[in-house]
Amino acid sequence: MEMADGNRLLLIVDDQDVVRHTLKLCLKNIEYENVVEARDGREAKKVIAENDVDIIFCDLNMPVEDGFEVLRYLGEIGFKGSVILISGEEEELLSSSSNLARLYQLDILGSVQKPVSAGVVKKLIAQIETSRLTRLNAPPVPVLSANDILHHMDVGNVKAFFQPQMDLATRRVSGLEVLARIVVSDSEVIYPDSFIPAAEKSLDLIQSLTKVIIKEALSEISQNYQFLQGITFALNISAKVLEDPQFPYWLNEVVVDYKIPQENIICELTETALTHEQTTVDTQLLRLKILRFKISIDDFGTGYSSIAQLHSIPFDEIKVDKRFVLDCISNLKSRAILEQSICMAKAMGISVVAEGVENRDIENFLISIGCHIAQGFLYSRPDTIEPIVKYIRWTQNMLESG
Ligand code: C2E
Ligand code: CA
Ligand code: CA
Repeated sequence: MEMADGNRLLLIVDDQDVVRHTLKLCLKNIEYENVVEARDGREAKKVIAENDVDIIFCDLNMPVEDGFEVLRYLGEIGFKGSVILISGEEEELLSSSSNLARLYQLDILGSVQKPVSAGVVKKLIAQIETSRLTRLNAPPVPVLSANDILHHMDVGNVKAFFQPQMDLATRRVSGLEVLARIVVSDSEVIYPDSFIPAAEKSLDLIQSLTKVIIKEALSEISQNYQFLQGITFALNISAKVLEDPQFPYWLNEVVVDYKIPQENIICELTETALTHEQTTVDTQLLRLKILRFKISIDDFGTGYSSIAQLHSIPFDEIKVDKRFVLDCISNLKSRAILEQSICMAKAMGISVVAEGVENRDIENFLISIGCHIAQGFLYSRPDTIEPIVKYIRWTQNMLESG
């Protein structure tokens, strides 16, 4: 088998001799012979500290120090290898544990239930090899410094990209979300993960960056406005930006300058933004509402405060986070969250956008549960305004020609 890599060191952590033994045999079968063992968490930590371990099979339930302690330790040392959980527990518990381990930013490949079978081990190892290959091919996310960001702002590299939102009932593009990009050259585009969190570390920087992105977006929109009538434009607003009491008035001035109706602007606030100082946030949201802007809860379902806030603030929309949409076909819990969010929003007369719609199965499911608007790669990736306008016109032509 070509996937075997004799140089890689595997560690099996389990208190049961028979489990370690079986696993070792399974691995030997697929030519992984460089295997060490540990009988509990304490032994495992010692092995990990003293060796360059690549792959760890780790039992959860062990005496002395258990698997959770090993995961915590791996998170603490920033372990870069792969982890596979083994447990006699039911699948549900294993999958919650995998989620926990992801919080430690570990590369959890999956889990195996006891008794361990050769087929499952083989499949997981094959998965390690493909995920290692994609990781090797995908460059790590670079994080820009404040100076880099300022430089890109100065030279005009900060651009607005747009992603369509599809009205599932009319099949028309009903909105565009503005997503920031730094375009260095035709072949080098920097994504928000590399600069938004970095910019958010400084109040001044995120505030001025946001203003640049919004002006870029509104300028592009107004130049193409003849094709964009009746469409909403969603802007991502960080909590830090909302801290500036003048921000709503600034926004109002620019939309008036660009002659875009306030009703067509949706301010997306993440749930984490909403947990900032309550009265400040509420006041700012009410200012935006009084100026006739629309407000939306972004990443709905990922924070804690949103349901209470839906009660006290007149939100116009919720955006269900893509983590619940991407796997709604296979994951019962994601599906329940998605269904209940839509049900609740409908009862409150609020519209719902599902992001992360990547295929027709997801789309059909959303239609079946009454979701209004879908956004995702199925329709279009975020892009510059020209191809997006083309896409909008193409969808209109398709509808008109029946
Ligand atoms: P977000 O607001 O949740 O935006 C949606 C993200 O999901 C975008 O990532 C988009 O490209 C991605 N996405 C859309 N459809 C799909 C799909 O079908 N499948 C998958 N897997 N992903 C999809 P992007 O553009 O990389 O932006 C990441 C985050 O950066 C945004 O998440 C938002 O929180 C932040 N961001 C982007 N632009 C701005 C901005 O101008 N200001 C602020 N404050 N944050 C921004
Ligand atoms: Ca958003
Ligand atoms: Ca999201």
